[in-house]
Amino acid sequence: MDVGILALQGAFAEHARVIEKLGHKAIEVRSLADAKKVEAMILPGGESTAILPLLKKTGLDQWLTEKVKKGMPVFGVCAGLILLSGHSLKLIDVDVVRNAYGGQLDSFEDELELHIPRNIKFKGIFIRAPKIKKIGKKVQVLGRHGRTPVLVRQGNVLAASFHPELTDDTRIHEYFLKMG
Ligand code: GLN
Repeated sequence: MDVGILALQGAFAEHARVIEKLGHKAIEVRSLADAKKVEAMILPGGESTAILPLLKKTGLDQWLTEKVKKGMPVFGVCAGLILLSGHSLKLIDVDVVRNAYGGQLDSFEDELELHIPRNIKFKGIFIRAPKIKKIGKKVQVLGRHGRTPVLVRQGNVLAASFHPELTDDTRIHEYFLKMG
């Protein structure tokens, strides 16, 4: 598969490494021209307040909205989750609060139990993560930290508040690539 990785800002190289490791092609997307051949799309972590204006400026916000409606799989991580949420593009029916776990010094790791669809344990790395506060009826919760959802899916849209690309564990990316 040709997997686009939004590369306007943030941790895109790590996702590209995982995608290539799984035998797919990673395409860095900075413009509509880059996005042409893409069959799935990853929105990486970074700074959503920096990425959102660039998404709008490049027209990639509208492109993404149309593609999601047509069924293209999209995976948003951390800032990517913020971009997909009610906060920004509204492509998944979840509301988030930015930096709700605290600042850089409150970044943490914890073991998560995920259901993708088998029950697995996964190392959750949270870096200035957004907290999911509200989810719509169509949203499936695939993992929680305590009572808080941290991995959610609505149809072809997957979103995580933690960073799977910073581990050697490729199982969430594998799950994502099978969503198409
Ligand atoms: N705090 C960042 C934001 O609000 C997200 C952090 C991250 O992606 N690691 O966009």
